[in-house]
Formats: sequence, structure tokens, C-alpha cells
Amino acid sequence: MSAPFEIMVGRIETLALDAVVNAANRQLAPGSGVDGALRQAAGPRLTEATKRIPPILTGEAVITPGFDAPMKFIIHTAAPIWSDEGPQGAKVAGLAKCYMSSIKMAASRGFESIAFPCLGTGVYAWPRGFACGIAIAACEQALEQAPKLKRIVFCCFTEDDAKIYRDGLGGRLR
Ligand code: ADP
Repeated sequence: MSAPFEIMVGRIETLALDAVVNAANRQLAPGSGVDGALRQAAGPRLTEATKRIPPILTGEAVITPGFDAPMKFIIHTAAPIWSDEGPQGAKVAGLAKCYMSSIKMAASRGFESIAFPCLGTGVYAWPRGFACGIAIAACEQALEQAPKLKRIVFCCFTEDDAKIYRDGLGGRLR
């Protein structure tokens, strides 16, 4: 089976999929970037819902409805902060875990479609190409346990990011 990967350039809060992934923080506190955009689209019920959950572990995934936003559910995960102390291997494993636990959550709910932003590459300052390689490898690995997932959309904010993903995915695009 060919991998169900797609790349798009756009705003993740506009996507009417089963789930989109939020680049959250461990406290699920209102943030900027993807988190701010999703909160704006989903409305105040999202902030109410996320008050009851934290803290989450780095790489853990938790789920809420999409509320007023077009996606059915939002999966919230917190990437490691690139500049934090500690071995790089642990950070790489943490970022990979964000993708794997999000896909595992989607699979456990029987979702067919999910979109990821370029986790960690905004405020958390991961190098874009490096983070992209981790994202693709982690999704490929997690997909083995998610046979129902038909669409994995890498929602890039810029054309530059989309090019990095196109180069990274090569012939594995749908
Ligand atoms: P992190 O804290 O994990 O770094 P950010 O939300 O700051 O998360 O940024 C993650 C990535 O998402 C960055 O590449 C940023 O350019 C991109 N981004 C910001 N806003 C949006 C949006 N509305 N839709 C999709 N991607 C976005």
C-alpha cells in the first residue's frame, strides 16, 4: 500500500478533516501560532475543555472536539523545545512521539484523516529540515498500526516548508 501522505500550504484551522493536530504546550495554555489560530476558530469551548486536562507529557496526545472549527476533533500534543537542555536524542524521540501518539489516537478512534502542522518549528524553534525528517519517519512507523487512516496531510504554513516536505517525501506522495 502506498503511504497516504499529502502536502498542502494553508491554515490548519480551516481543515474539515476527522482531526487536526495542535502544536500545544504542556500546560495546554493559550499560545500563538497554530494554537492561537485553532482557539480562535474553535471558540471559547475549546479553552474551557483544555483547562481540565493538563499537564501533559512531552509527546503525549490528548483529544478534544473541534467545537466551532471545521474539523471534528483536535488532537493536542506538545513538542520538545529545541533550545532546552538535554541530549538531542531525547528531543528527537520526543518530537517523533508527538506524531506517533497523535496517529495512535486517531487510529483508536477509527479516524480516516488527520492533518499535522510542522510541529516544533515555530516558537519551539526546531530546524525545519531536521524536524521534517523526524515527522515523516515517525508517521511512516506509526502508520503500520493505523490501517484505517487514509489521509495524512502535512499542512505547511509556507511554500518553503512545503518544498522541504516534497523533497523529504519524494515518490511517497499520493
Ligand atoms: P511550536 O510551538 O510547536 O513551534 P507553532 O504554532 O509556533 O508551534 O508553529 C508550528 C508551525 O506551524 C510553524 O512552522 C508555523 O509557521 C506554523 N503555523 C503557524 N500558524 C499556522 C496555521 N494557522 N496553520 C498552519 N501552520 C501554522
